[in-house]
Formats: sequence, C-alpha cells, structure tokens
Amino acid sequence: MFKRFRDPKLAEKIVRHIRRLAPSYTVKICHVCGTHEWTITHFGLRSLLPSTVDVIAGPGCPVCVTPAADIDAAIQLALEGVTITCFGDVLRVPGSELSLLDAKARGGDVRIVYSVGDAVKMAKQETSREFVFFAIGFETTAPSTAIEVLKKPPPNLSFLMAHRLIPPAMELLLGIGDLQIDGFIAPGHVSTIIGMKPYQIFPEAYGMPTVIAGFEPLDVLFAISMVLQQIREETPKLENEYKRAVTPQGNVKAQKLMQKAFTTISTEWRGIGRLPDSGLTLNEEYEKYDARKRYDMPAKKGRDLLPGCQCHLIMIGKMKPNQCKLFMKECTPESPKGPCMVSIEGTCRIWVSSR
Ligand code: SF4
Repeated sequence: MFKRFRDPKLAEKIVRHIRRLAPSYTVKICHVCGTHEWTITHFGLRSLLPSTVDVIAGPGCPVCVTPAADIDAAIQLALEGVTITCFGDVLRVPGSELSLLDAKARGGDVRIVYSVGDAVKMAKQETSREFVFFAIGFETTAPSTAIEVLKKPPPNLSFLMAHRLIPPAMELLLGIGDLQIDGFIAPGHVSTIIGMKPYQIFPEAYGMPTVIAGFEPLDVLFAISMVLQQIREETPKLENEYKRAVTPQGNVKAQKLMQKAFTTISTEWRGIGRLPDSGLTLNEEYEKYDARKRYDMPAKKGRDLLPGCQCHLIMIGKMKPNQCKLFMKECTPESPKGPCMVSIEGTCRIWVSSR
C-alpha cells in the first residue's frame, strides 16, 4: 500500500504534470501539518518542483502553537506537587523560564504518557496523588480527551486544556496581507475527524483553492497538482485527494463526543496571538475536571519567544528554518531555543532531521 504511494515512476509523471501546470509567476501553496512538512522535506519534494511553486508550512505542529503561558501553568502545578502527564514532545518545549523537563529535574513529577487513557489508569492506581493531563493537540487528539471526560474520570484527575482547531488558523493566514497564499493543502488526519465542510469557507469566501491531502509523497504531489489545476482554471473549490481516509462528513461520532464535552473558545496561539473560536474548553457540566478552575489558576501572560527566535514567523510560513540566524547555531535539537526545534512535528526540527 505505502509502496504504491511512493512509486518513483508515478512521482516523475506527476512532477511533469506539475511543471506543465505551474504558472510563470510565483504561487505559494500552504500546508498546515507537521506530517506534510515531514513528507515534503524527507522526500525532497521541494527540489522536484518548478521554481515558481513555493510550498510553505503553516501552524501545523500542536506543541509549537501551545503558548508559553500554558507550559508555565503545567510547570507551576508540577512544582506544587501535582503529577503532570503529557506527551513526550512537550517535555522540552521552553516555557517562559523553564521547560517541563526542568521542572522534572527540580523534583516535579512529570510523566510521559502515550494517550490520555494512560493518565486515567495512573490516577486510578495512585488515588493519593493529584493528576493533570496536559491536553495538547488538534482535532485528531481532542476526541480521545473528550471520551475520557465523558466517561467521568477519577476525582484525582483533571485536564489542562490546550487543544487547538485548525480551520481558524488557516483563516488567520489569509488575513496576513503580505503572505499572499494562492492555495491550501489541508491536513488529512484532522480531516478524517472534521470532514470537508469546515474548509468550504476557503474557496467560497476567499476564492482559495483547497485540497485535502494524505501523507505519502504521491499524495502531496497529487494535491499540489490539484491546487495548480484550480489556479490555472481560476475555479477555486474544495477537493479531497485523501478519499481513502476522509469522507465528506468526517467522523460524526467523534464530532458528537467533542460537542458534548467541549465548548469552542477564542484562545492564544504561541507567538501568533488570540484567534477567535480556535480552542476548546470543557463544557459547564464537566468544569470540575478543568485544572485551571480546580487549582484556581488565572490566565497569565507568558514569554512565547526567546530573543532571536523566529518561531512566530516559521509558524505562519513567512520564514523558512534556515533563514533564522539561530538555526543549528545557538538553536539545535539538543539545545532548542524555540518550540519549532523541539517537537518532531516542528518545522525547524523536521528540517534538521532531514539534513
Ligand atoms: Fe526558533 Fe530555533 Fe527555529 Fe530559530 S531555529 S525559529 S530559534 S526553533
């Protein structure tokens, strides 16, 4: 199956088609997904494209867009004796002053989990401890948080909500005047949950060609050719290249779970600012599981960017990692200065791992 979507002969054919479709002026095609960036970078797809087709990476890494204030809140709880459970790639992301790894080194109980279910199990086994699950991720991981919230978690577990939603971030990019995007490649895995409808706004209201794509090299190349075809024909529409996984309606069961557990709110994105309807909080009925309310933690401002870090520009596709002066000098995977160098879905980290 994977081989079929990595067939070099077919790739050559699509690249030839892309060359025929590419306009003489430069077009910018934006994806918003760490896995797409990994495929593009790892397989060297940019080098196959004509010079007039520029594929840029938007805010597609959930860990990278988590504001320092949220990391600070998790660190504060860990240092106050609460056990923080989180995904591994959050551990080294810099907060305003410290990372969760620093908090662990200072005696905080910070544990890596592979799913929210692991956090539930731990809380059930260690009833004398207070647990918090740091709920980070886009629409792909939010349903699993919703399931556990709706199942009535153990009383010693609460949730530090940091889920973010992709379509509002895509809309933000269209409002950045000097970015001038000509087409979107929408993320396949988020689309398996939300379906196609949330993207309809892009061709209809913004005239933006939009293609949902899978993650194999041929998926991405096909999607690029589909966007270029729309640009050439001046017929912006929403198309689905990833039909083997994404249905028009998406995963309705997962959507219902999220609606039951969560309310959509305006929220901060690291280095980007507050976006309307772009985050999830627990519904009133489940507020008692909200870590911020349980531990009386008012919203605070954090320091999202260390001096010189350009992650805010990387995350909106305005800059490429090798244009940051700190890239692989002061900022390395071993000593990251910004979130984009930490997570395996971060653009800077991906560029390093594919060098
Ligand atoms: Fe931020 Fe480091 Fe990337 Fe520069 S190289 S943008 S400092 S993560």
